[in-house]
Amino acid sequence: MSSTTQYNNDLEFIKKIDRMLDRRLDHAAYVFAFAACLLAHILYIVLFTASGVRLMVFFNAFSILFYVSTLFLVNVIKEKMNLVYATIGEIILHAAFATICVGLASNFTMFLLMIIPLAFLMPNKSRYAPFVILFISVPLYGILNYHYSDSAKALYDLSSSPYEIIFYVINFIVGSAVLIYIAIIFSLMRHYLESRLRLQTEQLKVMASTDPLTKLNNRREIQKRLEEVSGSSSDYIIGIGDIDDFKRVNDTYGHDMGDTVLARVAKIISDTIPADAGVARWGGEEFLFVIPDSDIDAGRKCADSIIKAIREKTFTHEGKEFSITMTIGICLGTSKDTIDTVISTADARLYKGKQNGKNHTEFE
Ligand code: GH3
Ligand code: MG
Ligand code: MG
Repeated sequence: MSSTTQYNNDLEFIKKIDRMLDRRLDHAAYVFAFAACLLAHILYIVLFTASGVRLMVFFNAFSILFYVSTLFLVNVIKEKMNLVYATIGEIILHAAFATICVGLASNFTMFLLMIIPLAFLMPNKSRYAPFVILFISVPLYGILNYHYSDSAKALYDLSSSPYEIIFYVINFIVGSAVLIYIAIIFSLMRHYLESRLRLQTEQLKVMASTDPLTKLNNRREIQKRLEEVSGSSSDYIIGIGDIDDFKRVNDTYGHDMGDTVLARVAKIISDTIPADAGVARWGGEEFLFVIPDSDIDAGRKCADSIIKAIREKTFTHEGKEFSITMTIGICLGTSKDTIDTVISTADARLYKGKQNGKNHTEFE
């Protein structure tokens, strides 16, 4: 995939998720989770009543009360994660008490392991919180698994009742559904974070290499190109252009108009130089261009074309028209010259051009 396609895909995906989150999706997710828990416990209270496990009927009455409260509290409590921690506590207690009552065969211990990935995925307030859940849940799982391997130790015997398999299947379905939900959310979140990281890296790269006003390469970015061109065996042209009397543009028409002129001049230079040439904003109103594989005549022609195009461009400010000019100093670089000397010579010629009446190319 090309980097532009990747960039656009990432942008689209991030926007989609951000739009979803904007629509108070997080609040809906909490309500959905608490309502699902409430429904599960209504189902459990019916099944425990039917199977005669009275201790768990009491426990589930408490659980139902708890989840009804969470559905109200989720609208008033600011820190919704506290409700989630209370929910995890309820799940651990419920799984442990159910195992004590009916033994391992009904598969309530599944919840003790299932909540661990959930604990690490949820937006914890502290990064230690999921470890606390892990260190409570796993040892409890180990102890219960060991102790109730002897089913006779359970308070109620469901081994000859159909409810043992009913509990097993329901717990398996509920536990698996939650695991699948966690897996989907986790992979979606990972994709979201990766896309964001790629996008931000790309934006930082552009910010670090581009002049925000003119959208040209900045001085640092063109350096790579300059080294590459000066390192080759062919001759090349370095040109430095400086807008004439630019201070007067700012003073007469204002700084904003000055900015507009700079952006426009940058566009004219980019459009005029050959396709394989490079251009950068070298300073305030100074631009540097480099033409690989060139000679002084081609360099002069190019600089003259830039100067002509700039001179012919008219700007309008509050109904008044004005135009500007540019002076360019150019220098031919060969494989024997260092890039710094070629740039210095072009700069000295630019200075000479300013002394010699501006608005032309200085090449000697
Ligand atoms: P010369 O013909 O000798 O080049 O005269 P000049 O007025 O162009 O030269 P000078 O270097 O004295 O002034 C350059 C001005 O460019 C001064 C500065 O305020 C202005 N300038 C530099 N960067 C920006 C910019 O980003 N936006 C605007 N609007 N003006 C800028
Ligand atoms: Mg100037
Ligand atoms: Mg200047």
